[in-house]
Amino acid sequence: MTSASSADLFTRAQKVIPSGVNSPVRAFGSVGGTPPFLTSAKGALLHDADGREYVDLVGSWGPMILGHAHEGVVEAVREAAGRGLSFGAPQPGEVTLAEEVISRIAPVEQLRLVNSGTEATMSALRVARAATSRDVIVKFAGCYHGHVDALLAEAGSGVATFAMPGSAGVTASTARDTVVLPYGDREAVTALFAERGSEIAAIITEAAPANMGVVPPLEADGVGFNRFLSQTAHANGALLISDEVLTGFRASREGYYGVDGPTGVAGADDAWAPDLMTFGKVIGGGLPVGAFGGRKDLMGLLAPAGPVYQAGTLSGNPLATAAGLATFAGLDEAAYETLGAASSTLQQLVADALTTAGVPHVIQSAGTLFSVFFREDPVTGYADAKAQDTAAFTRFFHAMLEAGVYLPPSAFEAWFVSTAHTPEVLDRIAAALPGAAKAAASA
Ligand SMILES: *Cc1c(COP(=O)(O)O)cnc(C)c1O
Repeated sequence: MTSASSADLFTRAQKVIPSGVNSPVRAFGSVGGTPPFLTSAKGALLHDADGREYVDLVGSWGPMILGHAHEGVVEAVREAAGRGLSFGAPQPGEVTLAEEVISRIAPVEQLRLVNSGTEATMSALRVARAATSRDVIVKFAGCYHGHVDALLAEAGSGVATFAMPGSAGVTASTARDTVVLPYGDREAVTALFAERGSEIAAIITEAAPANMGVVPPLEADGVGFNRFLSQTAHANGALLISDEVLTGFRASREGYYGVDGPTGVAGADDAWAPDLMTFGKVIGGGLPVGAFGGRKDLMGLLAPAGPVYQAGTLSGNPLATAAGLATFAGLDEAAYETLGAASSTLQQLVADALTTAGVPHVIQSAGTLFSVFFREDPVTGYADAKAQDTAAFTRFFHAMLEAGVYLPPSAFEAWFVSTAHTPEVLDRIAAALPGAAKAAASA
């Protein structure tokens, strides 16, 4: 069988699809070159249209936590497909998936399924504004919450890669209702609430930011940043929305909330919880799924019982819930141990290679999630993340790709491992690293 090369496909794609891609970072805009067009994937390996094989460290940006074409997941989808692709009516898998999420994440009492993380955050904002009868949303620079108009200001990753301040096409009145603060800046949060507390519907934050690279929330005086946000919001009649679209069921079995949540008993002085949470990526196992959930009184505001309209023709799709449930079935304690071990081993390998080559770097992690910054000092926010040597990253990226390792094509992304990243797979990455580190060093 003859087939088109990636270069041919990219040329054709650029004629019929803007920039040749259906999501910006895929275009390799910041690192240059032609993106490989992928034709199949299995476990931790990808295959492209040019007959090349790569070790994957993107994992479809998070969902492929069990590796590609996992037998249990594929079989569940095949079986569901045989029973019908979509009903537009309630089906059992929706209930089981909601029960699974709720059983892992204590603050979620009710959940609604949507088709993407973007829809999840968009809907959570609507609920928060309805619940508080207020308009203003507070977000943090470098946090990405999908391409929701109100949340595109200083949104990290794709937006960071293309050095856009936000996005064209967002109205001034929408932008006016979003206040962007530096991540981790408690004084700025306190000052904003002192001035405009009665206008603020909600603070939205990534539970652990991972779209400017991984920037875990820091403690101060024994109070974690997320708990501080919860306390500040609640003291002012506002809500806290914790976005776990990326960290959910990846950072730990209970997402980042499992790393960061209250250690005390619910209701105790030190207990805290987000009011609403958003999910995506892992919960769909590679099919388009998002979800938002939280306090029952808030979720009860949704139509048809309540006044907040929210809907979806394909929401709760039976293939999507089958893929999500089969993924959860594979995510037991042992799976998180495997993920944690693969993540630690890889961090050590990268650190060793970059240190040997004399390349300044900082590796930061949140649970099993991590990223590599090409700079000396720790990154605590977006300004730090942007102050890294992206040219060194670009050289490193291309050398890794050449050696058969597919990294995220941006210096502002987490590296994604899966349970299929076995010691043999990690050995292949280890073999590629010294050459890539040398390339990074060769300015
Ligand atoms: C990926 C992501 C989103 C958006 O999800 P999509 O499914 O791409 O719309 C929202 N929030 C966070 C934290 C994400 O990482």
